[in-house]
Amino acid sequence: MNSPALQFAPLRLRKHEARRLRQGHAWVFSNEIDTRCTPLQAFEPGAAVTIEDDRGKVLGTGYVNPHSLIAARLVSRSAQHPWGRSLIRHRLNVALALRERLFAEPFYRCVYAESDGLPGLVVDRFDDILVVQITTAGMECFKEDVVEALQGLLRPRVIVFRNDSPIRMLEGLERYVETAQGTPPETLEVREHGLNFHAPLLSGQKTGWFFDQADNRRDLERWVKDARVLDLFSYVGGWGVQAAVRGAAHVLSIDESATATAYVRENAEINAVAERVEAKTLNAFEALKQLRDEQQQFDVIVVDPPALIKRKKDYAKGVQAYERLNELAMKLLARDGILISCSCSQHLPRAELVGLLNRRARHLDRSLQILSQRFQSVDHPIHPAMPETDYLKVIFTRVFR
Ligand code: SAH
Repeated sequence: MNSPALQFAPLRLRKHEARRLRQGHAWVFSNEIDTRCTPLQAFEPGAAVTIEDDRGKVLGTGYVNPHSLIAARLVSRSAQHPWGRSLIRHRLNVALALRERLFAEPFYRCVYAESDGLPGLVVDRFDDILVVQITTAGMECFKEDVVEALQGLLRPRVIVFRNDSPIRMLEGLERYVETAQGTPPETLEVREHGLNFHAPLLSGQKTGWFFDQADNRRDLERWVKDARVLDLFSYVGGWGVQAAVRGAAHVLSIDESATATAYVRENAEINAVAERVEAKTLNAFEALKQLRDEQQQFDVIVVDPPALIKRKKDYAKGVQAYERLNELAMKLLARDGILISCSCSQHLPRAELVGLLNRRARHLDRSLQILSQRFQSVDHPIHPAMPETDYLKVIFTRVFR
Protein backbone atom coordinates (compact mmCIF):
# COMPACT_ATOMS: atom_id res chain seq x y z
CA MET A 1 0.00 0.00 0.00
CA ASN A 2 1.56 3.29 -1.03
CA SER A 3 -0.49 5.92 0.71
CA PRO A 4 -2.68 5.27 3.72
CA ALA A 5 -6.39 5.82 3.57
CA LEU A 6 -6.04 9.14 5.28
CA GLN A 7 -9.55 9.40 6.59
CA PHE A 8 -9.16 6.43 8.97
CA ALA A 9 -7.53 6.51 12.38
CA PRO A 10 -4.41 4.35 12.61
CA LEU A 11 -4.25 1.07 14.52
CA ARG A 12 -0.64 0.27 15.34
CA LEU A 13 0.59 -3.31 15.76
CA ARG A 14 3.39 -4.39 18.08
CA LYS A 15 6.74 -5.56 16.81
CA HIS A 16 6.60 -8.88 14.87
CA GLU A 17 2.81 -8.94 14.94
CA ALA A 18 2.34 -8.00 11.29
CA ARG A 19 3.68 -11.31 10.05
CA ARG A 20 0.44 -13.26 9.97
CA LEU A 21 -1.30 -10.43 8.14
CA ARG A 22 1.50 -10.25 5.59
CA GLN A 23 1.07 -13.97 4.99
CA GLY A 24 -2.55 -13.38 4.07
CA HIS A 25 -4.51 -13.78 7.29
CA ALA A 26 -7.10 -11.12 8.12
CA TRP A 27 -7.33 -11.07 11.91
CA VAL A 28 -5.59 -8.98 14.53
CA PHE A 29 -5.88 -10.22 18.11
CA SER A 30 -6.15 -7.69 20.92
CA ASN A 31 -2.76 -8.61 22.41
CA GLU A 32 -1.04 -7.82 19.12
CA ILE A 33 -1.91 -4.15 19.24
CA ASP A 34 0.45 -1.45 20.45
CA THR A 35 -2.08 -0.02 22.88
CA ARG A 36 0.32 2.62 24.17
CA CYS A 37 0.45 4.12 20.73
CA THR A 38 -3.16 3.43 19.73
CA PRO A 39 -5.32 2.62 22.80
CA LEU A 40 -8.17 0.28 21.92
CA GLN A 41 -10.66 2.05 24.19
CA ALA A 42 -10.38 5.09 21.95
CA PHE A 43 -12.26 3.27 19.19
CA GLU A 44 -15.99 2.81 18.73
CA PRO A 45 -16.95 -0.81 17.99
CA GLY A 46 -16.80 -1.26 14.24
CA ALA A 47 -14.82 1.89 13.48
CA ALA A 48 -12.82 1.89 10.26
CA VAL A 49 -9.05 1.89 10.77
CA THR A 50 -5.78 1.94 8.88
CA ILE A 51 -3.75 -0.99 10.19
CA GLU A 52 -0.01 -0.39 10.36
CA ASP A 53 3.04 -2.32 11.54
CA ASP A 54 5.23 -1.29 14.48
CA ARG A 55 7.13 1.17 12.29
CA GLY A 56 4.06 2.82 10.87
CA LYS A 57 4.13 1.06 7.53
CA VAL A 58 0.56 0.68 6.34
CA LEU A 59 -0.74 -2.87 5.86
CA GLY A 60 -4.23 -1.94 4.78
CA THR A 61 -7.63 -0.89 6.02
CA GLY A 62 -10.35 -2.63 7.92
CA TYR A 63 -12.33 -2.31 11.11
CA VAL A 64 -11.82 -2.58 14.83
CA ASN A 65 -13.81 -3.74 17.83
CA PRO A 66 -12.31 -3.03 21.25
CA HIS A 67 -14.72 -5.55 22.88
CA SER A 68 -13.64 -8.54 20.84
CA LEU A 69 -10.65 -10.86 21.16
CA ILE A 70 -10.38 -10.55 17.40
CA ALA A 71 -9.82 -6.84 17.81
CA ALA A 72 -9.50 -5.93 14.15
CA ARG A 73 -9.97 -7.39 10.68
CA LEU A 74 -7.94 -6.37 7.68
CA VAL A 75 -10.29 -6.10 4.74
CA SER A 76 -8.34 -4.26 2.05
CA ARG A 77 -4.65 -4.12 1.21
CA SER A 78 -5.15 -1.54 -1.50
CA ALA A 79 -4.87 2.21 -0.94
CA GLN A 80 -7.10 2.84 -3.94
CA HIS A 81 -9.89 0.63 -2.59
CA PRO A 82 -10.13 1.11 1.18
CA TRP A 83 -12.64 -0.64 3.43
CA GLY A 84 -16.08 0.83 2.92
CA ARG A 85 -19.24 0.82 0.96
CA SER A 86 -17.84 0.68 -2.55
CA LEU A 87 -15.45 -2.12 -1.58
CA ILE A 88 -18.40 -4.11 -0.22
CA ARG A 89 -20.20 -3.63 -3.49
CA HIS A 90 -17.16 -4.75 -5.46
CA ARG A 91 -16.52 -7.84 -3.32
CA LEU A 92 -20.19 -8.84 -3.54
CA ASN A 93 -19.88 -8.69 -7.30
CA VAL A 94 -16.79 -10.86 -7.31
CA ALA A 95 -18.43 -13.38 -4.97
CA LEU A 96 -21.55 -13.57 -7.08
CA ALA A 97 -19.56 -14.04 -10.27
CA LEU A 98 -18.08 -17.26 -8.88
CA ARG A 99 -21.48 -18.66 -7.93
CA GLU A 100 -23.06 -17.72 -11.24
CA ARG A 101 -20.32 -19.58 -13.00
CA LEU A 102 -20.83 -22.69 -10.86
CA PHE A 103 -24.56 -23.00 -10.38
CA ALA A 104 -27.33 -23.42 -12.92
CA GLU A 105 -29.94 -22.47 -10.34
CA PRO A 106 -29.97 -19.62 -7.80
CA PHE A 107 -29.62 -21.69 -4.62
CA TYR A 108 -26.27 -21.29 -2.89
CA ARG A 109 -24.16 -19.46 -0.37
CA CYS A 110 -23.50 -16.23 -2.17
CA VAL A 111 -21.04 -14.76 0.32
CA TYR A 112 -18.84 -16.72 2.72
CA ALA A 113 -17.27 -14.08 4.94
CA GLU A 114 -13.44 -13.88 5.04
CA SER A 115 -13.11 -16.30 2.11
CA ASP A 116 -14.93 -13.78 -0.08
CA GLY A 117 -13.11 -10.81 1.39
CA LEU A 118 -16.15 -9.78 3.43
CA PRO A 119 -15.43 -10.65 7.07
CA GLY A 120 -18.54 -10.78 9.22
CA LEU A 121 -20.95 -11.33 6.33
CA VAL A 122 -22.74 -14.45 5.12
CA VAL A 123 -25.46 -14.37 2.46
CA ASP A 124 -27.45 -17.43 1.43
CA ARG A 125 -29.56 -17.22 -1.69
CA PHE A 126 -32.82 -19.07 -2.15
CA ASP A 127 -33.82 -17.75 -5.53
CA ASP A 128 -35.34 -14.33 -4.78
CA ILE A 129 -35.05 -14.70 -1.02
CA LEU A 130 -31.79 -13.68 0.62
CA VAL A 131 -30.91 -14.72 4.15
CA VAL A 132 -28.14 -12.56 5.57
CA GLN A 133 -26.03 -13.02 8.69
CA ILE A 134 -23.83 -10.31 10.13
CA THR A 135 -21.46 -11.35 12.88
CA THR A 136 -19.15 -8.35 13.47
CA ALA A 137 -19.64 -4.76 14.61
CA GLY A 138 -17.64 -3.54 11.62
CA MET A 139 -20.03 -5.16 9.16
CA GLU A 140 -23.06 -4.13 11.23
CA CYS A 141 -22.07 -0.47 10.62
CA PHE A 142 -22.60 -1.11 6.90
CA LYS A 143 -25.85 -3.01 7.21
CA GLU A 144 -27.83 -0.53 5.10
CA ASP A 145 -25.14 -0.53 2.43
CA VAL A 146 -25.16 -4.32 2.32
CA VAL A 147 -28.91 -4.27 1.77
CA GLU A 148 -28.61 -1.65 -0.94
CA ALA A 149 -25.82 -3.49 -2.70
CA LEU A 150 -27.74 -6.78 -2.61
CA GLN A 151 -30.84 -5.07 -3.97
CA GLY A 152 -28.87 -3.57 -6.83
CA LEU A 153 -27.13 -6.81 -7.64
CA LEU A 154 -29.82 -9.47 -7.20
CA ARG A 155 -33.19 -7.69 -7.20
CA PRO A 156 -34.46 -9.92 -4.37
CA ARG A 157 -38.09 -10.08 -3.29
CA VAL A 158 -37.23 -10.72 0.36
CA ILE A 159 -34.18 -9.96 2.50
CA VAL A 160 -34.07 -11.36 6.01
CA PHE A 161 -31.37 -10.82 8.61
CA ARG A 162 -30.77 -13.91 10.74
CA ASN A 163 -28.60 -11.93 13.12
CA ASP A 164 -29.24 -14.35 15.97
CA SER A 165 -25.96 -16.25 15.99
CA PRO A 166 -24.42 -16.60 19.47
CA ILE A 167 -21.05 -15.45 18.10
CA ARG A 168 -22.47 -11.94 17.89
CA MET A 169 -22.14 -11.79 21.67
CA LEU A 170 -18.35 -11.94 21.30
CA GLU A 171 -18.64 -8.63 19.46
CA GLY A 172 -21.05 -7.12 21.99
CA LEU A 173 -23.85 -7.18 19.41
CA GLU A 174 -27.50 -7.86 20.13
CA ARG A 175 -29.12 -10.90 18.59
CA TYR A 176 -32.21 -10.42 16.44
CA VAL A 177 -34.09 -11.59 13.38
CA GLU A 178 -35.35 -8.81 11.11
CA THR A 179 -36.89 -8.38 7.71
CA ALA A 180 -35.12 -5.77 5.61
CA GLN A 181 -37.30 -6.14 2.54
CA GLY A 182 -40.56 -7.80 1.51
CA THR A 183 -42.69 -10.25 3.47
CA PRO A 184 -40.88 -13.45 4.33
CA PRO A 185 -42.85 -16.65 3.84
CA GLU A 186 -42.81 -19.16 6.67
CA THR A 187 -41.20 -21.76 4.45
CA LEU A 188 -38.17 -21.55 2.22
CA GLU A 189 -38.16 -23.46 -1.02
CA VAL A 190 -34.79 -24.94 -1.91
CA ARG A 191 -33.64 -26.86 -4.94
CA GLU A 192 -30.70 -29.22 -4.65
CA HIS A 193 -29.52 -31.60 -7.37
CA GLY A 194 -32.91 -31.42 -9.05
CA LEU A 195 -34.95 -32.09 -5.90
CA ASN A 196 -37.27 -29.71 -4.06
CA PHE A 197 -37.11 -29.15 -0.34
CA HIS A 198 -38.94 -27.05 2.21
CA ALA A 199 -37.21 -25.57 5.25
CA PRO A 200 -38.27 -23.12 7.94
CA LEU A 201 -37.10 -19.58 7.18
CA LEU A 202 -37.36 -17.59 10.39
CA SER A 203 -37.12 -20.44 12.88
CA GLY A 204 -34.75 -22.81 11.08
CA GLN A 205 -31.17 -23.72 11.93
CA LYS A 206 -28.64 -21.10 10.85
CA THR A 207 -29.90 -19.57 7.59
CA GLY A 208 -32.45 -22.35 7.02
CA TRP A 209 -30.51 -24.79 4.85
CA PHE A 210 -27.07 -26.40 4.95
CA PHE A 211 -25.59 -25.60 1.57
CA ASP A 212 -22.19 -26.70 2.86
CA GLN A 213 -23.16 -30.36 2.46
CA ALA A 214 -24.67 -30.05 -1.00
CA ASP A 215 -21.62 -31.31 -2.92
CA ASN A 216 -21.26 -34.20 -0.49
CA ARG A 217 -24.84 -35.34 -1.04
CA ARG A 218 -24.44 -35.27 -4.78
CA ASP A 219 -23.19 -38.81 -5.25
CA LEU A 220 -25.38 -40.45 -2.60
CA GLU A 221 -26.65 -42.79 -5.27
CA ARG A 222 -23.48 -44.87 -5.31
CA TRP A 223 -23.75 -45.50 -1.58
CA VAL A 224 -27.44 -46.03 -0.90
CA LYS A 225 -28.93 -48.23 -3.64
CA ASP A 226 -31.39 -50.62 -1.93
CA ALA A 227 -29.88 -49.76 1.44
CA ARG A 228 -31.43 -49.32 4.85
CA VAL A 229 -30.29 -45.82 5.78
CA LEU A 230 -30.12 -44.09 9.16
CA ASP A 231 -29.85 -40.28 9.00
CA LEU A 232 -28.82 -38.90 12.38
CA PHE A 233 -29.22 -35.17 13.11
CA SER A 234 -31.31 -35.07 9.99
CA TYR A 235 -32.62 -31.50 10.27
CA VAL A 236 -35.19 -31.27 7.41
CA GLY A 237 -33.89 -34.32 5.55
CA GLY A 238 -31.13 -33.03 3.29
CA TRP A 239 -29.35 -36.40 3.43
CA GLY A 240 -32.18 -38.76 4.24
CA VAL A 241 -34.78 -37.68 1.71
CA GLN A 242 -32.12 -37.48 -0.96
CA ALA A 243 -31.00 -41.02 -0.07
CA ALA A 244 -34.56 -42.26 -0.53
CA VAL A 245 -34.84 -40.58 -3.91
CA ARG A 246 -31.51 -42.10 -4.96
CA GLY A 247 -32.75 -45.60 -4.29
CA ALA A 248 -32.54 -46.41 -0.59
CA ALA A 249 -34.98 -49.13 0.47
CA HIS A 250 -35.82 -47.41 3.73
CA VAL A 251 -34.66 -44.29 5.56
CA LEU A 252 -34.98 -43.51 9.24
CA SER A 253 -34.34 -39.83 10.04
CA ILE A 254 -33.67 -38.75 13.61
CA ASP A 255 -33.66 -35.20 14.95
CA GLU A 256 -34.52 -33.86 18.39
CA SER A 257 -36.45 -30.97 16.87
CA ALA A 258 -40.10 -31.75 16.12
CA THR A 259 -40.13 -28.92 13.58
CA ALA A 260 -37.24 -30.55 11.74
CA THR A 261 -38.85 -34.01 11.62
CA ALA A 262 -42.17 -32.54 10.47
CA TYR A 263 -40.26 -30.99 7.57
CA VAL A 264 -38.55 -34.32 6.84
CA ARG A 265 -42.02 -35.85 6.37
CA GLU A 266 -43.11 -32.95 4.22
CA ASN A 267 -39.97 -33.20 2.10
CA ALA A 268 -40.46 -36.93 1.68
CA GLU A 269 -44.00 -36.20 0.43
CA ILE A 270 -42.82 -33.53 -1.99
CA ASN A 271 -40.29 -35.91 -3.48
CA ALA A 272 -42.69 -38.87 -3.61
CA VAL A 273 -40.76 -41.08 -1.21
CA ALA A 274 -42.98 -40.79 1.86
CA GLU A 275 -43.54 -44.54 2.04
CA ARG A 276 -39.79 -45.11 2.39
CA VAL A 277 -38.93 -42.32 4.82
CA GLU A 278 -39.69 -42.42 8.50
CA ALA A 279 -38.83 -39.49 10.77
CA LYS A 280 -38.61 -39.65 14.55
CA THR A 281 -38.19 -36.82 17.03
CA LEU A 282 -35.53 -38.12 19.39
CA ASN A 283 -32.20 -37.31 20.93
CA ALA A 284 -29.68 -38.99 18.66
CA PHE A 285 -27.73 -40.65 21.49
CA GLU A 286 -30.95 -42.05 22.96
CA ALA A 287 -32.15 -43.17 19.55
CA LEU A 288 -28.91 -45.06 18.95
CA LYS A 289 -29.30 -46.97 22.21
CA GLN A 290 -32.94 -47.68 21.51
CA LEU A 291 -32.20 -48.99 18.02
CA ARG A 292 -29.47 -51.17 19.48
CA ASP A 293 -31.93 -52.65 21.98
CA GLU A 294 -34.32 -53.35 19.13
CA GLN A 295 -31.44 -55.01 17.25
CA GLN A 296 -32.00 -52.89 14.20
CA GLN A 297 -29.34 -52.76 11.52
CA PHE A 298 -28.50 -50.33 8.74
CA ASP A 299 -26.39 -50.48 5.62
CA VAL A 300 -25.58 -46.77 5.59
CA ILE A 301 -25.49 -44.37 8.52
CA VAL A 302 -25.03 -40.63 8.19
CA VAL A 303 -23.78 -38.87 11.32
CA ASP A 304 -23.98 -35.13 10.74
CA PRO A 305 -24.20 -33.46 14.17
CA PRO A 306 -23.99 -29.77 15.04
CA ALA A 307 -20.50 -28.65 16.13
CA LEU A 308 -19.81 -30.71 19.25
CA ILE A 309 -16.69 -28.63 19.97
CA LYS A 310 -17.79 -25.03 20.00
CA ARG A 311 -14.81 -23.55 21.82
CA LYS A 312 -11.25 -24.74 22.18
CA LYS A 313 -11.72 -25.43 25.86
CA ASP A 314 -14.50 -27.94 25.06
CA TYR A 315 -12.07 -29.99 23.00
CA ALA A 316 -11.66 -33.06 25.24
CA LYS A 317 -15.36 -33.34 26.01
CA GLY A 318 -16.24 -32.78 22.38
CA VAL A 319 -13.89 -35.50 21.13
CA GLN A 320 -15.52 -37.87 23.61
CA ALA A 321 -18.94 -37.03 22.23
CA TYR A 322 -17.78 -37.72 18.65
CA GLU A 323 -16.29 -40.99 19.84
CA ARG A 324 -19.45 -42.09 21.61
CA LEU A 325 -21.65 -41.13 18.73
CA ASN A 326 -19.59 -42.87 16.07
CA GLU A 327 -19.10 -46.00 18.12
CA LEU A 328 -22.84 -46.29 18.76
CA ALA A 329 -23.41 -45.82 15.04
CA MET A 330 -20.82 -48.46 14.10
CA LYS A 331 -22.58 -50.94 16.34
CA LEU A 332 -25.74 -50.59 14.27
CA LEU A 333 -24.03 -51.16 10.94
CA ALA A 334 -24.77 -54.33 9.06
CA ARG A 335 -21.98 -56.34 7.50
CA ASP A 336 -19.76 -54.10 5.34
CA GLY A 337 -21.82 -51.09 6.29
CA ILE A 338 -21.01 -47.54 5.25
CA LEU A 339 -20.54 -44.84 7.87
CA ILE A 340 -20.63 -41.25 6.63
CA SER A 341 -19.18 -39.33 9.53
CA CYS A 342 -19.20 -35.54 9.50
CA SER A 343 -17.81 -32.84 11.74
CA CYS A 344 -18.34 -29.13 11.29
CA SER A 345 -16.25 -28.28 14.39
CA GLN A 346 -13.48 -26.01 13.24
CA HIS A 347 -11.48 -27.06 16.30
CA LEU A 348 -11.44 -30.75 15.34
CA PRO A 349 -8.63 -31.44 12.85
CA ARG A 350 -9.41 -33.82 10.01
CA ALA A 351 -6.69 -36.24 11.11
CA GLU A 352 -8.21 -36.35 14.58
CA LEU A 353 -11.63 -37.28 13.21
CA VAL A 354 -10.06 -40.08 11.19
CA GLY A 355 -8.06 -41.09 14.26
CA LEU A 356 -11.08 -41.30 16.53
CA LEU A 357 -13.09 -43.26 13.96
CA ASN A 358 -10.25 -45.75 13.78
CA ARG A 359 -10.01 -45.95 17.59
CA ARG A 360 -13.72 -46.70 17.90
CA ALA A 361 -13.56 -49.31 15.18
CA ARG A 362 -10.58 -50.99 16.84
CA HIS A 363 -12.39 -50.89 20.16
CA LEU A 364 -15.22 -52.88 18.56
CA ASP A 365 -12.69 -55.16 16.88
CA ARG A 366 -13.64 -53.90 13.43
CA SER A 367 -11.60 -52.47 10.60
CA LEU A 368 -12.15 -49.30 8.69
CA GLN A 369 -11.54 -48.36 5.11
CA ILE A 370 -11.65 -44.71 4.18
CA LEU A 371 -13.40 -44.48 0.85
CA SER A 372 -13.71 -40.78 0.34
CA GLN A 373 -12.85 -37.63 2.25
CA ARG A 374 -14.69 -34.46 1.58
CA PHE A 375 -14.87 -30.81 2.48
CA GLN A 376 -17.47 -28.06 2.50
CA SER A 377 -19.14 -27.33 -0.83
CA VAL A 378 -17.62 -25.11 -3.46
CA ASP A 379 -19.71 -22.08 -2.49
CA HIS A 380 -17.84 -22.06 0.85
CA PRO A 381 -14.33 -21.48 -0.53
CA ILE A 382 -11.38 -21.96 1.79
CA HIS A 383 -9.02 -19.06 2.46
CA PRO A 384 -5.53 -20.55 2.16
CA ALA A 385 -4.07 -18.41 4.95
CA MET A 386 -7.02 -18.86 7.29
CA PRO A 387 -7.52 -22.39 8.60
CA GLU A 388 -10.60 -21.04 10.39
CA THR A 389 -12.44 -21.04 7.06
CA ASP A 390 -11.81 -24.79 6.51
CA TYR A 391 -14.22 -26.45 8.91
CA LEU A 392 -16.27 -29.26 7.38
CA LYS A 393 -14.95 -32.81 7.32
CA VAL A 394 -16.94 -35.64 5.80
CA ILE A 395 -15.41 -39.11 5.91
CA PHE A 396 -17.00 -41.97 3.99
CA THR A 397 -15.86 -45.27 5.48
CA ARG A 398 -16.63 -48.96 5.22
CA VAL A 399 -16.69 -50.78 8.53
CA PHE A 400 -16.04 -54.50 8.46
CA ARG A 401 -15.21 -57.37 10.74
N1 SAH B 1 -27.66 -33.05 8.54
C1 SAH B 1 -28.35 -31.79 8.39
C2 SAH B 1 -27.77 -30.70 9.23
C3 SAH B 1 -27.71 -31.00 10.69
S1 SAH B 1 -27.84 -29.58 11.68
C4 SAH B 1 -28.36 -31.38 6.92
O1 SAH B 1 -27.54 -31.89 6.16
O2 SAH B 1 -29.17 -30.53 6.55
C5 SAH B 1 -27.93 -30.26 13.25
C6 SAH B 1 -29.28 -30.83 13.62
O3 SAH B 1 -29.09 -31.61 14.78
C7 SAH B 1 -30.36 -29.82 13.95
O4 SAH B 1 -31.49 -30.06 13.17
C8 SAH B 1 -30.67 -30.06 15.45
O5 SAH B 1 -32.06 -29.98 15.74
C9 SAH B 1 -30.21 -31.46 15.64
N2 SAH B 1 -29.73 -31.85 16.96
C10 SAH B 1 -28.87 -31.18 17.76
N3 SAH B 1 -28.58 -31.92 18.86
C11 SAH B 1 -29.25 -33.09 18.72
C12 SAH B 1 -29.33 -34.29 19.51
N4 SAH B 1 -28.65 -34.41 20.65
N5 SAH B 1 -30.08 -35.29 19.04
C13 SAH B 1 -30.77 -35.19 17.87
N6 SAH B 1 -30.73 -34.09 17.10
C14 SAH B 1 -29.98 -33.05 17.52
